[in-house]
Amino acid sequence: MELPRNPTRAVRIGRLTIGAGHPIAVQSMCATKTQDVEATAAQANDLAAAGAEVVRLAVDSQRDADAVARIRERTRANLCVDLQEHYRLAAAVAPHVDKVRYNPGHLYHHERRKGWRQKVAFLAETAAKHDCALRVGVNCGSVDPAKKDAFDPRDSVSPMVASALEHCACLDDLGFTRYCVSLKDSDPAKVIEANRRFAAARPDVPLHLGVTEAGLPPDGVIKTRIAFEQLISRGIGDTIRVSLTVPNAHKGEEIAAGKEILDDIAAGRVRSVVDYGLRSLNIISCPSCSRVENEAFVELAEQVRELTSYAQDHALTIAVMGCRVNGPGETDDADLGLWCGPHFVNLKRGGESLGAYPYSEILPRLKEELDALIGAKAGRR
Ligand code: SF4
Repeated sequence: MELPRNPTRAVRIGRLTIGAGHPIAVQSMCATKTQDVEATAAQANDLAAAGAEVVRLAVDSQRDADAVARIRERTRANLCVDLQEHYRLAAAVAPHVDKVRYNPGHLYHHERRKGWRQKVAFLAETAAKHDCALRVGVNCGSVDPAKKDAFDPRDSVSPMVASALEHCACLDDLGFTRYCVSLKDSDPAKVIEANRRFAAARPDVPLHLGVTEAGLPPDGVIKTRIAFEQLISRGIGDTIRVSLTVPNAHKGEEIAAGKEILDDIAAGRVRSVVDYGLRSLNIISCPSCSRVENEAFVELAEQVRELTSYAQDHALTIAVMGCRVNGPGETDDADLGLWCGPHFVNLKRGGESLGAYPYSEILPRLKEELDALIGAKAGRR
């Protein structure tokens, strides 16, 4: 079956080109510590062998950046670096990678007196100098605060789309067009809406699709499939990542799931339209990456799913996140949130912090809060 494709421009990422009708590329991310050069290079090679056309690495410090040069020597995978607050590390990593991802919502933390446009100009100049592509990676949990303030707080999609469009215009004005965009949320319905709206406004910009914190398989694959079916069948999407909470050794499952979804869509084996309205318990968990602060995180996500199975029929969302970088922000919208530190798990009810608990004590505390929420709901009926 011939799928329609939006007329996006070609963007080269190392030996790969996305957009302009090129096959939709599947990518993944290393979850090893970036500074563990041998383990990260091995995982990058494993992911590439499994079919990852781009492999992403998290870089949060100069030491991570130093490791990237050594990882580059050990793998031929097309490499992308994921920068958070430390946008200046682009200069150290760009000579060794093929693409740099920055998050517009993270350009506010460092050098506060410098405007974001100046920082984007630095990123574009650095990418151009070192033959790199850029990804403007907008994420629901860390949207540009100025954009959030401009919209109704109940509307989380408009600030994401506005932020992405603003950064595209900025890059275009700078004469840098070798970029793609992503708009990710943990809710597939919001991913669909954000990407549709963005693609309608900028059909020329290649899109990287993903449902962030999709969670454990099989639910994580199902959520992702819902979003991808709705978008790809309408010509939207040039590269994809399936984010799954799986142990390190199973990261290849992300690639297998992505390929299977693409094959099914191409063959017309679509399973939507599924209404993803929250009428049952929804557990979201991050796919883990090198920023995970305690290896117990993946096991904890599984334990949360088992422990809460009794609440399956309640329309509640529980978020389980692996680190302090994205955990605090990305648990705000959940009814109950857990984000993992090195020794403690932080528990939240919506945006409110309920304290930090040792890994051995968090599950009973979570159950207590879940029971209270269910009880409160029953009382309101
Ligand atoms: S929440 Fe933290 S550990 Fe999990 S994927 Fe995001 S950055 Fe990585």
